[in-house]
Amino acid sequence: MKRNKVVIVGAGFGGLTLACKLNGSTYRVLLLDRFNHHQFQPLLYQVAMAGLEPSSVSFPLRAIFQGSPNVRVRLAEVNEVVPEQQLIKTTDGDFEYDFLVLACGARTNFFNNPALEQHAWSLKSTSDAIALRQHLLLMLEQADTATEEEIRSLLTIVIAGGGPTGAELAGALAELRRHVLWKDYPELNASMMRIVLVEASDRLLGGMSLNSSQAAFRYLTRMGVEVLTGVRLSGYDGHVVQLSNGATINTKTLIWTAGITANVVNGINLSEKAPGNRIRVDAYCRMIGNESIYVIGDLAFLQTPRFPNGLPQVAPVAIAQARQVAANLLRMAKGRAPKPFHYRHKGSMATIGKHKAVIDFPWFRMQGGLAWFVWMAVHLITLMGMKNKLFVFINWVIAYFTNDSTLRLIFTPASQKTWDKKQKPPP
Ligand SMILES: Cc1cc2nc3c(=O)[nH]c(=O)nc-3n(C[C@H](O)[C@H](O)[C@H](O)COP(=O)(O)OP(=O)(O)OC[C@H]3O[C@@H](n4cnc5c(N)ncnc54)[C@H](O)[C@@H]3O)c2cc1C
Repeated sequence: MKRNKVVIVGAGFGGLTLACKLNGSTYRVLLLDRFNHHQFQPLLYQVAMAGLEPSSVSFPLRAIFQGSPNVRVRLAEVNEVVPEQQLIKTTDGDFEYDFLVLACGARTNFFNNPALEQHAWSLKSTSDAIALRQHLLLMLEQADTATEEEIRSLLTIVIAGGGPTGAELAGALAELRRHVLWKDYPELNASMMRIVLVEASDRLLGGMSLNSSQAAFRYLTRMGVEVLTGVRLSGYDGHVVQLSNGATINTKTLIWTAGITANVVNGINLSEKAPGNRIRVDAYCRMIGNESIYVIGDLAFLQTPRFPNGLPQVAPVAIAQARQVAANLLRMAKGRAPKPFHYRHKGSMATIGKHKAVIDFPWFRMQGGLAWFVWMAVHLITLMGMKNKLFVFINWVIAYFTNDSTLRLIFTPASQKTWDKKQKPPP
């Protein structure tokens, strides 16, 4: 009997690429996601900083597959996989599969610290970015009429995690402080706002070269960000951050970018646990021990001689694996043998602020203004949809010349977290 039902869980970089590649094929494809849109995570921090509109980095899934003969989209959260019955259980009912592709990505890892999870802000989805933007703007509003003591805590922002997301957020906040704070809030000034970036290891951008990491440190400290390396954040109760060196920081805002853990769906046997809670896969991206289940992107753990700790959890890996799985499914439909996946690392990059970025290509490195333009070009090219590319480009051009944006809008009711904090001030 022909096996042609493909169910893809997750419409991120991996799942969406796969569905697009199978569009028009002989497979019946069902694409499921708990959101009705694809999210371009690399630019979420700009949404959180009110530099871009949420809709510029999100793309409605149904619009992508309008008129598709074989791809169907469902808004559903997958709760369980039953491999023995080739079935998944979702909030929208049960679905059978011949091939299941798990592309559920990862979520923020709070390392089993419930207080952190309750009080810290994370940045993994467009909804997270909107909530964080709302919170930051409310902090500024409250600071405008607060006492000096309160202002200190309202305008101190601590970011945990000195990877690309943490460094980019810190840089964007420093730009906001420099160019916008005093214009929007004449009673406040830049010296009242404190931005602290805490990194447990001894350097920023741990996945990049030492050169890039030193450049990022230099850029951030010049922009007035307090960078604490070799310091672990050990606790936060919504008011006070505790650090491993014994220091404490009063703040109403902790942004947690210090780790991710894979979104493993119930029913998947994780007897052989892989780092980051990921699922081990073979060279064809199939789950070890089950040839009907493929795992791609942030959720997959594939060791190679160059990457003994697994491939990096970045968009190019997810996209490349999706392409390979699609090619293999198409080959198998024609009775041909699948080919193994080989990853070619094309480099990594991070931007710290205007005219400041670092790029590690496999053969050379770039820093500064030129790297910043390359960073923008790469992100524009990879962003989905012409409208989104155009809107982001226009926003960037305006911001380039004005150092400002008109997107600092607060839509009440604020997220529950902010609302609670606002309603119940600390005793
Ligand atoms: C803030 C931020 C900045 C980043 N910057 C960069 C960057 O500059 N460059 C880079 O290469 N990478 C970057 N990354 C990493 C990159 O976004 C990920 O590596 C990439 O998104 C992984 O793709 P994926 O398809 O595996 O998962 P994702 O893109 O995360 O997609 C997973 C999808 O699965 C859905 N899902 C999860 N669980 C379920 C479930 N149970 N039921 C239904 N749906 C589910 C989610 O809603 C989501 O849509 C960044 C990540 C973040 C968070």
